[in-house]
Amino acid sequence: MNVSSNHWVLASDNPGKLEEFRTLLTPIGLKISPQGVLNVDPVEETGSTFLENALLKARNASLQTGQPTIADDSGLVVDALCGQPGIRSSRFAGSRASDASNVKKLLHLLKDIPPAERKAHFYCVVVAMKEAGDPAPLIATGSWYGSISMEPRGDSGFGYDPVFLDLNLNSTAAQMAPEAKNRLSHRGQALVKLQQIMMSNSD
Ligand code: IMP
Repeated sequence: MNVSSNHWVLASDNPGKLEEFRTLLTPIGLKISPQGVLNVDPVEETGSTFLENALLKARNASLQTGQPTIADDSGLVVDALCGQPGIRSSRFAGSRASDASNVKKLLHLLKDIPPAERKAHFYCVVVAMKEAGDPAPLIATGSWYGSISMEPRGDSGFGYDPVFLDLNLNSTAAQMAPEAKNRLSHRGQALVKLQQIMMSNSD
């Protein structure tokens, strides 16, 4: 893939994600625009895996814009809930659920689970597609291991950040500076790998 074709559409309108993608991909010369500014209608996430959903989102944005696209699909996997909310993380409390109501539902389901049994991880897959029919999209993944706190802490980030405790630091993702989160996070890891794949594929 030629990274000199440097304008990429991000198949998401989540401002938290856009910020993270820009921070990690601008340094290698990519210009990232969210799909909303190009009036892309989001696709329904009908896949049964993170990868299928990421490919659906990237292909949809590329079909509608004619541009190369990057998409991720990510979510929170909680051991005590047999992997829920997983691919349903953004819709855990309902189809248009707010971050606050998703977090509230999660804490409610875990209310009787002690700290040692609240293990969880974030997972992210990122795909880059140079056109809608690209038969060989670039794919990278990342995971971030931790646990679910007893109550929300911190104001940064988005989604489940206020209740996701890093394994080594005793702070939630929402208590971290964005640079610290990007160094540790599932999306940060996947994007660093994607950066490396793109650089090694560039001519
Ligand atoms: P997606 O936009 O379909 O990939 O949904 C991902 C959902 O997973 C988000 O809406 C959040 O609920 C959750 N999620 C993914 N990554 C993060 C993160 O870095 N922090 C907090 N929540 C996240």
